[in-house]
Amino acid sequence: MSINLQKRIQSISLKLEKIYGRKKWKIHADPLSELIATILSQNTSDHNSHKAYSNLRSKFKTWEQVRKASVKKVADAIRGGGLANIKARRIKDVLNQIYEENHNLDLGFLKRWRTERIEDYLKKFKGVGEKTTACVLLFSLKRPAMPVDTHVERVSKRLGLVPPKASAKDAETILEDLLPKSLIYQFHLNLIAHGRNTCLAANPRCRSCVLFENCDYGRTSV
Ligand code: SF4
Repeated sequence: MSINLQKRIQSISLKLEKIYGRKKWKIHADPLSELIATILSQNTSDHNSHKAYSNLRSKFKTWEQVRKASVKKVADAIRGGGLANIKARRIKDVLNQIYEENHNLDLGFLKRWRTERIEDYLKKFKGVGEKTTACVLLFSLKRPAMPVDTHVERVSKRLGLVPPKASAKDAETILEDLLPKSLIYQFHLNLIAHGRNTCLAANPRCRSCVLFENCDYGRTSV
């Protein structure tokens, strides 16, 4: 692992912290709720997926009720989030599979497992890939995983932290190796904030970017 890259990413992290703030690593939800929220976030905007999730929670009081409901009823509840029929089927399959294996829907046992075992367990569900698994690890189990969404991938590649042709999985591994564990949560959130506010996909605001000096793309494009 390159010491230079490690120093560079820590300097970037510090600059982002000055703009977007220090983040205290906190649990966002229990593992099952996080898993379902992340399935809902696939291929849609944050706004739509949050709306779909809160509508689902208001229509059904428990995950058991969602498991027992028809696909149509679940799809109707999450309609605003896009791909409602596919996601409803996916969510119900996950709930049914967990229930058949454990006779309940409590994923609290994951807290006692090693990270690799949790990854293998979550990835066996249809429609659950690297990003969803990393979200559950980071946001509900406090494990140092780096979910690579479109913002994390774009900004980390422009900054030269990750090679341009790296896959999302490679980007995840590289960033996890480069960052001290204590910085992963904050770096993830702040890099996304930077992708939304400054390092936009179409027209990045390089001239006013605090990371300009650290950025391969910015220096060559301005
Ligand atoms: S300098 Fe430009 S490309 Fe680099 S991080 Fe900033 S906005 Fe993105």
